[in-house]
Amino acid sequence: MNFEPDPTHVAFREEVRAFMRDNVPPDLARRSYIGGHPPLVDDFRRWQRILHGRGWGAPHWPVEHGGTGWSAMQKHIFAEELYRADALDYGWQGTHMIGPVLIAFGSEAQKRRFLPPMLSGEEYWCQGFSEPNAGSDLASLRTRAELASDEWVINGQKTWTSDAHYADWGFFLVRTDPAVKPQRGISLLLVPMNSPGIRIRPIESLNGGHELNEVFLDQVRVPRENLVGEPGLGWTYAKYLLEKERTASAYLYQNKRELEKAKEIARAETVQGRRLIDTSGFARKLARVEADLLALEWSVLRILSDENNAHDAGAVVSALKIRGSEMQQRIAQLQIDALGPRALRAFQHGDYSAAVIDGTPLWPAYVPGRTAQYLHLRAATIYGGAREVQKNIIAKRVFGL
Ligand SMILES: Cc1cc2nc3c(=O)[nH]c(=O)nc-3n(C[C@H](O)[C@H](O)[C@H](O)COP(=O)(O)OP(=O)(O)OC[C@H]3O[C@@H](n4cnc5c(N)ncnc54)[C@H](O)[C@@H]3O)c2cc1C
Repeated sequence: MNFEPDPTHVAFREEVRAFMRDNVPPDLARRSYIGGHPPLVDDFRRWQRILHGRGWGAPHWPVEHGGTGWSAMQKHIFAEELYRADALDYGWQGTHMIGPVLIAFGSEAQKRRFLPPMLSGEEYWCQGFSEPNAGSDLASLRTRAELASDEWVINGQKTWTSDAHYADWGFFLVRTDPAVKPQRGISLLLVPMNSPGIRIRPIESLNGGHELNEVFLDQVRVPRENLVGEPGLGWTYAKYLLEKERTASAYLYQNKRELEKAKEIARAETVQGRRLIDTSGFARKLARVEADLLALEWSVLRILSDENNAHDAGAVVSALKIRGSEMQQRIAQLQIDALGPRALRAFQHGDYSAAVIDGTPLWPAYVPGRTAQYLHLRAATIYGGAREVQKNIIAKRVFGL
């Protein structure tokens, strides 16, 4: 493997960095730096519009649908620079999840109707997969959809639906054939979130934020043509959706940016007159995390360089997910350790205040949001597929257990 950066990549990185410098609105970057989940949906629409204006609304899509045609390395550099600039990387349920599924399996009419407003940020999406008794065991989902003349009639309940209260549209896994093997009777439907019969009940998160929801569907009717692909193939499309971007599950770019924040805090905070970062205890902890993150980065780069990988895509995604989500938690912990008692300040999600008395801020700009983020990331080893379930996948696919 060649460790030297390719000169064309250096030039590309400079181009992206300059774009970020000139186009990320500072107020948006500040909110993104503070973090907490989800960021304001208006920020998302605004930023997506800016990206779209440059032709970078969905770099990973095929060119004919508004993508960029970039190589894997260019997409990697773009994501690195995006996080470095504290720009938003959001709206994943749209451009990263259902978008690629529609491109691969949707009808021409669906592509024409849904892809442009997804790309420009006009329409925001949510993902309705999980149910009260179907999370890890998703195939046991019970929300039903029945065809009544030209409409699907949906009844059931979803849960943990991120951003359902913001979303214009949702993509829902529903059971359309209860008679066959569970995986084979599931279909994928596109549902307007303002449909009569949809009720959304908020679930308050540990950090006081509102990202999650229960979604109740009572006689919800959608046109027959809102079915994606073939009836009964929803499970196949869901797997495609989850495995499409193999390296995304490593959360590499978030992790690198958050590690920088941990260092920033440790350089500014002092213990008995010494910078925290210079104390052997903290420096050791930091080095351990940094070494592991570097290893994760090289794993991602190996995959991006298209090296032959003996293992199947599902196992690779699972391994990256385990490692990446654990790194998220370890880095958030590092930030909290570095803040010490200050971590208890401004811990509530969405607290963007820089409390000021007589013109003097009560705490440095890096304090707000860190604890809210730490609390949010306790769920990183659950959402997107729980850690134990990922380990089961590796056991089965790699070791044949
Ligand atoms: C912040 C957050 C956002 C989310 N957003 C969405 C969303 O937008 N849309 C959506 O559809 N879902 C969403 N989810 C749901 C998420 O996908 C599920 O929480 C996840 O799949 C786990 O399912 P569960 O919560 O039902 O837990 P369960 O499946 O009940 O698991 C409970 C525990 O049992 C363990 N376990 C389960 N099965 C096994 C097994 N076979 N072997 C060993 N251990 C096992 C799990 O690892 C876990 O520790 C979100 C969840 C969170 C926390």
